[in-house]
Amino acid sequence: METEKIELTHDPKRGELFYGKNNVTLTARGQLAWIQRECEKAIGPAASHIIYESARVYAHRTESNIEQQVLNNLNKLSREEIALKLLEQFNKFGYCYAQAEEIDIEGKKAKIKVYNSANAIGYMNAEKPVCHFIRGVIAGAASELLDEPMYCLETRCTASGGGYCLFEVMTSEIAEKKRLGE
Ligand SMILES: [Zn+2]
Repeated sequence: METEKIELTHDPKRGELFYGKNNVTLTARGQLAWIQRECEKAIGPAASHIIYESARVYAHRTESNIEQQVLNNLNKLSREEIALKLLEQFNKFGYCYAQAEEIDIEGKKAKIKVYNSANAIGYMNAEKPVCHFIRGVIAGAASELLDEPMYCLETRCTASGGGYCLFEVMTSEIAEKKRLGE
């Protein structure tokens, strides 16, 4: 196993942890999927929408580091470079190993391949893709980056077999048209 050391800073008086400038909380890998599965058991398919929306709004609106990254780099890097930087950060936070398959800033679309999704842990032979949290974070980050409401669809998922998950990013407007069958 090839690993890299990272540095976390702990404030013992406040009981807080920092990864770079990000105030973070450590949870076990799999915790996310566990919460999601319990929500699904309790409320059914609505759980996927809640998990997706909570991640999307969090990534887009709060002081999540995504907004900071975008704002800090807007004058230094192209939007494509910022997108790649965000993906790298996603990997560093332990969600998965994400790679850009296609990033089309002008066309407002992207395809992201994700290996080893923490969101899919514990799911076996799922009928539909299950990585709603990751989908939400990607949608929120894309909305932040393009300053327009963006949607993310997972078109294949390790939970239903195969070696990776595939996420497609598009504007919410196009997603809506697809839903309407246009
Ligand atoms: Zn997945």
